[in-house]
Amino acid sequence: MDKNPETKRYITALTIAGLDPSGGAGLLADVKTFSALGVYGSAVATALTVQNTTGVKAVHAVTPGVIRSQIDAVMEDLNPDAVKIGMVNDAATIDTIAGALQNHPPRWLVVDPVILSSSGMPLMQAEAIEAFRKRLMPMADLLTPNIPEACRLARIGFDAARWPELMAEAARRLLGDGASAVLIKGGHADGERKTDVLFSMDGGEIEQKSYSAPTVFTGNTHGTGCTLSAAIAAFLARGCGLDEAVMSGKKYLSAALSEGADVKNGGGAGAVNHFYDPEKLIKTIL
Ligand code: PLP
Repeated sequence: MDKNPETKRYITALTIAGLDPSGGAGLLADVKTFSALGVYGSAVATALTVQNTTGVKAVHAVTPGVIRSQIDAVMEDLNPDAVKIGMVNDAATIDTIAGALQNHPPRWLVVDPVILSSSGMPLMQAEAIEAFRKRLMPMADLLTPNIPEACRLARIGFDAARWPELMAEAARRLLGDGASAVLIKGGHADGERKTDVLFSMDGGEIEQKSYSAPTVFTGNTHGTGCTLSAAIAAFLARGCGLDEAVMSGKKYLSAALSEGADVKNGGGAGAVNHFYDPEKLIKTIL
């Protein structure tokens, strides 16, 4: 973990997200990402899922009182440099998190809208989407939807043929709803490259910048969205600006995907390799 040399304090991040017991997505992916990037990780579980690499089987809520007191406990004591929000399943959870963070405003807040698992299980209830738009989006320094999530949150129908123009429209609406910046992720698109586009406001105008990386052809893509948003939060915590944090987060995700591309862990979509270079540490012990 990296320390601030003056304060001797670890650079710290908090994830507020769902627990995936198979460790590929959710708060375990987030904490692995923070740790891999030298950031002290803390975590509050918003929900307990039952899942493995073959898909999500069930979602169990955590009571709002527990979520609230855990966020308060971490924010008051550790004062994280960045906070990331992942899976939030219902409106009560959303209201609770928004209330807690209004009380303890984070320096950076990355909000990753998690609406549907790749296996098709809803991870945000339909009736919670309005609360998410009204309460969490206006607090976000960065919102990180994929293309279908951006359309859903912006209330526009997805049409692959018209996607480039729809993307700008979706971003305009999401910025209008109060997000300070929106990274629309193109990971679901086919092709030799994956391109994400960052939209932010610059003096009343919408500024846009693309980040592109070669596609890593692998089935081990479980938790890629969680990993990218956590990596961006980690780089923001380390002091990067938004542009550098997005660029660096994408670079980390590409490397973690490549390093885990041919691994066989579980019968379905495996995780990325978050710690792709642990040998240096191991050599100091063995
Ligand atoms: N489970 C949890 C707790 C998540 O946060 C997420 C995604 O963010 C998923 C499952 C979905 O992962 P996948 O898209 O790989 O199914």
